[in-house]
Amino acid sequence: ESLAEVAQATAADVDRAIAAARAAFPAWSGLPALERGKFLFRLARLIQERARELAVLESLDGGKPIRESRDVDVPLAAAHFFYYAGWADKLGEAFPGRDPRPLGVAAQVIPWNFPLLMAAWKLAPALATGNTCVLKPAETTPLTALLLAELVQDAGIPPGVVNILTGDGTTGAALMSHEGVDKVAFTGSTEVGKRIMQTAKTRHLTLELGGKAANIVFEDAPLDQAVEGVVNGIYFNQGHVCCAGSRLLVQESVAELFVRKLAHRIESLIVGDPLDKNTDIGAINSRAQLTKIQELCASGEEEGCVRHESGAALPERGHWFRPTFFPEVAQTHRIAREEIFGPVLAVMTFRTPEEAVEKANNTVYGLSAGVWTDKGSKIFKTLGKLRAGVVWANTFNKFDPSAPFGGMQESGFGREGGRHGLAPYLSLGGEA
Ligand code: NAP
Ligand code: MG
Repeated sequence: ESLAEVAQATAADVDRAIAAARAAFPAWSGLPALERGKFLFRLARLIQERARELAVLESLDGGKPIRESRDVDVPLAAAHFFYYAGWADKLGEAFPGRDPRPLGVAAQVIPWNFPLLMAAWKLAPALATGNTCVLKPAETTPLTALLLAELVQDAGIPPGVVNILTGDGTTGAALMSHEGVDKVAFTGSTEVGKRIMQTAKTRHLTLELGGKAANIVFEDAPLDQAVEGVVNGIYFNQGHVCCAGSRLLVQESVAELFVRKLAHRIESLIVGDPLDKNTDIGAINSRAQLTKIQELCASGEEEGCVRHESGAALPERGHWFRPTFFPEVAQTHRIAREEIFGPVLAVMTFRTPEEAVEKANNTVYGLSAGVWTDKGSKIFKTLGKLRAGVVWANTFNKFDPSAPFGGMQESGFGREGGRHGLAPYLSLGGEA
């Protein structure tokens, strides 16, 4: 069933968009910063006004539950524009003693898991700092970016400041490797990220890539609360989340009890119609992603892991996957090492805090991590040793525009959000 037809932007379209962004740059960067901020405040308010429409469109297009697009994606996208609108005229305060200036034209490519939110994460800091943008949404989820382009017009933002190009990976590659851009920002797979590192013509690069986060549950944790956090950590947005808590490390003494509670809890998760407010787990974003999840789960079984899935009823048509976990996984198994990007949890156990940290850090990634314990000192002791850009304690998958987000190692580099998120879009000059 087709929702809409969108254009496939060619290399010539990429040239035109970059030329438009280039032409718009002097006037946009030359605006009094307060005026630039006002445009972004206006855009943030328009997102709020059209929130219902954006949420429905996001769920229709990408398959995520309406409860999530309504309560998470859209409000956070608006919050991001509000937050960076406020920074526009305070760059001097953000970087005291420096001389912050915009870089020029920012080329931005985003994935399909949080389409509107990722557009906001890219556009808001770039625009607030005075850059102009060319953004490509993922081919399976371009619709909210196109509606956002309308809101950009409604906000009165001058032509050429924001350019949205739809298309597939070839469009993305043409944009990311273009001679005429001053900044490259990418969120997506590590594989494509590595390619972009080689082909980008600018040294101003930020990459937000995959992850394989550990959620560590100590025996002294409030277990029922931890079960909720683990469920949210891996089943939120069908597990299509780069910072998903896809590895559960649970202390041996409570492992059996915890897994029993987890098995019980996932029986109440409803899989199905993304537009139904009761749905917990919506549709898998694409046939290709479903195949990838199935293949990785099959590899787990081939390597001897027991697979546990809920008994959820599935709709007849569409791409669906039941909440699943593998209760006894070893670190060498593919499902413990590779990003599955689906509602699939690998469970491992540990005996001592040292072992928990060692296992958590045993990954090529380093995006996020979580710790569950009743003891404050243990939280700090453990989190300080984890190699991850974002850490949570007794919660998981909490996002706020004021908090910097980004990875280490193969999860990429650069930060989005917070004051830190301004820097990648600026040349700072002067002394630090
Ligand atoms: P992907 O290929 O990296 O896609 C991300 C974005 O890059 C999309 O807009 C994509 O366009 C574009 N793209 C593809 N090839 C490109 C190239 N050579 N140069 C520039 N841009 C290019 O990721 P995916 O194929 O959608 O998903 C594959 C895996 O990546 C997932 O299973 C997951 O493990 C991981 N992933 C991580 C994140 C994250 O947030 N860190 C997000 C999504 C996926 P098209 O969509 O048109 O191909
Ligand atoms: Mg792709």
